[in-house]
Amino acid sequence: MGSSSSLDPRHAVYVGSFDPLTLGHLDIIRRGARVYEKLTVGIGLNPDKQSLFPPEERLQLTQQVTEEFPNVTVRCFHGLAVSFARECQAAVVLRGLRMLTDIESEFRMSLANRTLAPEIESVFLMASDRYSHISSTLIKQIAQMGGADTAIHLKGFVPESVIEPLLARLGRTNL
Ligand code: ADP
Repeated sequence: MGSSSSLDPRHAVYVGSFDPLTLGHLDIIRRGARVYEKLTVGIGLNPDKQSLFPPEERLQLTQQVTEEFPNVTVRCFHGLAVSFARECQAAVVLRGLRMLTDIESEFRMSLANRTLAPEIESVFLMASDRYSHISSTLIKQIAQMGGADTAIHLKGFVPESVIEPLLARLGRTNL
């Protein structure tokens, strides 16, 4: 078990799949970077979870989009979020909360994390109302099934630099 004295309370890790990064994620990163001195975005690699984007591409896209924030770093990690936080010496695991549906699973996860690592605090930022309906799953559905103006519609959901790689991954290069 790690010692809490080695953890920095001004440093948070924001963990997720980011498959791909959305405007909702970016909003949490922007706000988290204002609250904490240092924010490390952790792209969790779960071999049991099928992802659209390979780890390197998720890393590269997230790095590109967050370049404007000097106190934000992006890394990939395997294993538990609390182990990643310890490895980064961050005292906080930051998560975003959308709608009521997120609360149950996030609450369960934060209780498990507290048992595993009582020295690490889970902190939640409420989703902004304009982004609270956005999920990576919804975006993949729109990108997959949308009509000829899909690329334009996606601007309301993901950072611009994500649109082309997203359509390419789904074989929709004609849009
Ligand atoms: P995971 O697979 O771990 O849920 P995600 O990449 O879907 O990873 O999400 C990472 C974190 O960002 C989670 O805490 C999730 O609740 C939060 N999040 C996802 N979409 C939004 C959004 N639109 N607004 C605010 N928070 C969000």
